[in-house]
This record gives sequence, C-alpha cells and structure tokens, in this order.
Amino acid sequence: MLCSKCNQSADALTDNGLCDDCHAKAESRRIAIIALARERHQEEGEVEIDDEAKLSEGDDNGCYVAAWVWLDFGETKFDKAKGENHERTKETQA
Ligand SMILES: [Zn+2]
Repeated sequence: MLCSKCNQSADALTDNGLCDDCHAKAESRRIAIIALARERHQEEGEVEIDDEAKLSEGDDNGCYVAAWVWLDFGETKFDKAKGENHERTKETQA
C-alpha cells in the first residue's frame, strides 16, 4: 500500500490513507491548529472548541474550525424559566 501523501509504501495505512509518519505529522499539526484556534477564539461559556473539532481547510491562508457557540434561551420562546419566579425576570421587571 502507498501513502496518499508521501507515496512511500507502508505495511498499514490509517483511514485517510496515510502512513504512520504522515499521520503523526498531520495529527500534531491538527492539535497545534486547535490550540491556536482556542487561544484566539475560545471564551469559556461562549465559544468552545473540542479536542476533536472538525477542521475545514482549502487553499486560503487559514481554515475553519468547528466550535460550540452558547445560545442563551433567556427571554426567548425557548426560555426554560418562563413563568417561574426567576431572578433574571425579577431584575427585568424592577
Ligand atoms: Zn506518508
């Protein structure tokens, strides 16, 4: 079998057709990209990025990193505290 990246023959390839060397390189690059994305964009409770976050990389000088964006239900039709005597509601009425 040939590695899809370096074209060397390998006994075993990973799911995406890489030899162990290329897989290890790709893996450390992926981890470093996620660390950079967290450094620049993660805000606890607002925007969070998983260890296994999907990356979408094309030819442009950057990439998309899948992230979790917190959505507050407060004062929307999804509000779980609706009708309850919730502190937030009290403050709004006062
Ligand atoms: Zn390779």
